[in-house]
Amino acid sequence: MTSVGDIFSPRPLEGRVALIAGGSSGINLGIAQRFASAGAKVVILSRDEERITAAARTITDAGHVAYGRAADVRNFEAVASVFKEASERFGLIDVVVSGAAGNFHAPAASLSANGFKTVVDIDLIGNFNVLRASFPFLRTPGASLMSITAPGGTHPSVFQVHANSAKAGINMTVKCLAMEWGPAGIRVNAISPGPISGTTGMAKLAASPEREQQIKARLPLREYGSIRDIADTALFLASDNAKYITGAIIDCDGGSGLGDASADALLKATQR
Ligand code: NAP
Repeated sequence: MTSVGDIFSPRPLEGRVALIAGGSSGINLGIAQRFASAGAKVVILSRDEERITAAARTITDAGHVAYGRAADVRNFEAVASVFKEASERFGLIDVVVSGAAGNFHAPAASLSANGFKTVVDIDLIGNFNVLRASFPFLRTPGASLMSITAPGGTHPSVFQVHANSAKAGINMTVKCLAMEWGPAGIRVNAISPGPISGTTGMAKLAASPEREQQIKARLPLREYGSIRDIADTALFLASDNAKYITGAIIDCDGGSGLGDASADALLKATQR
């Protein structure tokens, strides 16, 4: 028999409260929508009021519970006040997704110090701010925190020194917090998405069809992932089925972190 908290029940997050930082678009909005349809009350945090309102409306129009607040993840006090309000309105926070990020392609030789700092401030410092600000408002035991990292946090790549450095820091933040907060019953993990279709991230990093084909040709699974793929991974991590998983970087990346699988010999060897 399945119960609330079990990913195989129809609404595994029934009655739970989830805050999604960076939730007004893309992967994070997909996660917010998935959590809401699984029964969670959802709070969206990002910067732009209009985009937040539109994002929350996609959830409430589907008959679920959500609202949003504007805050910049670089501002700890602003983030903390969103958690405070959310806990007063909905109760203790069960699930936190920290996915706010900014990115662009830039060769290191022409990347400004300010460009590097801006990405580190949003992705790495912002991630710490979100997770740290959540702490006083978490349900313990039982809270599940997850950051959205990227394969570049583990595997170097060109023109991404700023984002990869920030994501590498996020991976370590997650592991350190998992050690320190585990005894309080708080799990802290990260999801590492590969290239995901229909996102701003991939529109910027693979702007032409040719570039998209090059990227797909190197992937073991040969396809971009979907927002739903990441949302399902997040739902599993939020559920009680993941209650023994903490400090993990979960790859949902079509095998992109394994390396370049584009060799001609490989294509011939696997043709059937
Ligand atoms: P996206 O649509 O651009 O979403 C980014 C979100 O972060 C937006 O809601 C944005 O809203 C918010 N944000 C940006 N700066 C912020 C700040 N300073 N304070 C608060 N919120 C801020 O991006 P996406 O492509 O779906 O990516 C989502 C996450 O997945 C990111 O962490 C990204 O690194 C990761 N990822 C994506 C891919 C991919 O294929 N797309 C692959 C690997 C990892 P506002 O600008 O209105 O604040």
